Amino acid sequence: MLEAYLSQKPGIKPTKIKILRQFGTAQNALRHYSQLSQALGVKVGDRVWRDLLDIRLSRPFDDEPPRFLGCSNIAEARWCHLKAIFKCIEEEHMFKAAYDEDVPTQGVTPTVQDYNRMLEQKKGIGTTEKRFLDWEKEKQQLVAEGFADLDPKWRGAIVESFHAEQYPTIRFHFEFMDKVVLGIPDGITGEFCYEFKSTRNQFLYEFVLPVARCQANLYAYFLKRPYIRVQVHILETDEIKTVMQEANYSRAEADLTEIVELLSGKRKPIPPKPWKCNTCKFATRCPGCGSRRS
Ligand code: SF4
Repeated sequence: MLEAYLSQKPGIKPTKIKILRQFGTAQNALRHYSQLSQALGVKVGDRVWRDLLDIRLSRPFDDEPPRFLGCSNIAEARWCHLKAIFKCIEEEHMFKAAYDEDVPTQGVTPTVQDYNRMLEQKKGIGTTEKRFLDWEKEKQQLVAEGFADLDPKWRGAIVESFHAEQYPTIRFHFEFMDKVVLGIPDGITGEFCYEFKSTRNQFLYEFVLPVARCQANLYAYFLKRPYIRVQVHILETDEIKTVMQEANYSRAEADLTEIVELLSGKRKPIPPKPWKCNTCKFATRCPGCGSRRS
């Protein structure tokens, strides 16, 4: 795939070609984005990197699969298999960078007990504080400014800061098959892992809940908590729905195996309901896009 990229960029300098080839695969070059940027003397997110990502996403199964995965992206498979694949490819560099940052302080293979100790000593990524206390006033302002149209990721982060329950948390990584899986739960207690999400309305809630449950269940599996606690804020009614249930470790292993097989091309992705593609940022390049299917 690196060669495909280079053949599409006839003007690229021989020194840059040499550097790029040293990474071996497009995914490996993307994975080491800071080294790549440094070696090429360009800024992170520069055209070279974006173009390389574009060609990588256009052929998701024709290159080395990503190795560093985030629980949030794995859980996206409950929304759409293809979206989970795209996100794992696109964001691998973030999880690799987090892993590189954590390894010196956490040790190469920390155990659950190590993470529990770090949590107690508040040595990892710590608790967050509620930043907005006057929710009513802030909410009215945000709704007036088109809050509902915000990117769901940013909207979720803002709503979370308003409504999410506050627990300590820590970023962790564990190995699963040939992958390194990282996560940072919205909260961790001795009993459960907590995940908070927001969605526009009741209809979407039914589809967001399985994603949130899957994510919390992955956290609980890795950190060996017996329960999950999930809350989903519904923007339209300003209601928070809470689910508390036992963690299901075999389900988590099945979800992890599924993403490994999806990324390698061993398992065929199932296309989602076509309406899910309407607002998907991958729609233009996605082979399973609903608008092309209908
Ligand atoms: S365009 Fe549709 S099928 Fe493709 S990733 Fe997005 S939601 Fe999934």
